[in-house]
Amino acid sequence: MSILNKLQDRSGSKCELCASEENLSIYKLPPMPVGTVDDSILACGTCIDQIENPDNVNVNHWRCLNDSMWSEVPAVQVVAWRMLTRLRAEGWPQDLLDMMYLDDESLKWAKATGEGLEDEHKVIHRDVNGVILQAGDSVVLIKDLKVKGSSMVAKQGTAVRRISLDPENEKYIEGKVGPTQIVIITDYVKKL
Ligand SMILES: [Zn+2]
Repeated sequence: MSILNKLQDRSGSKCELCASEENLSIYKLPPMPVGTVDDSILACGTCIDQIENPDNVNVNHWRCLNDSMWSEVPAVQVVAWRMLTRLRAEGWPQDLLDMMYLDDESLKWAKATGEGLEDEHKVIHRDVNGVILQAGDSVVLIKDLKVKGSSMVAKQGTAVRRISLDPENEKYIEGKVGPTQIVIITDYVKKL
């Protein structure tokens, strides 16, 4: 069975967002779709156009998410979350977001395009190359760092896994080097 057939089967040949039966095609979820059924949805031309071109958004069209956000399909939940996040300044999308439940994996996926990131976290941490760092990321040290309050030196090339972010200061992250939790300045790390 082709991907399209499987999606038609799953959706009953309707847009999985607004239930339209017109002009349906496969929408593969960015940022890195493999193109499987699990990371694709069946959607109508109107929905896809507005997802891909924020300038074309007709806010009222997305009232359809009131229903489709309850889909059991993670890919549909993720698109719903992204659109509600994009539109939340309207008020009602924020109310829906508050009711919505995504498991950890889906939420991570939903956030992977950076939707809503800018206003959700005013403090944005970036590595030496300007790549956005998120809690749980792994980084590598790009120079030897003296660890404050000890004689330890964290060597260039050391990987620091599962970092946490200082919520107040965009220049500081924390992570473990060996058994020791240290504070690291973002200018000295590169995201792995
Ligand atoms: Zn649609």
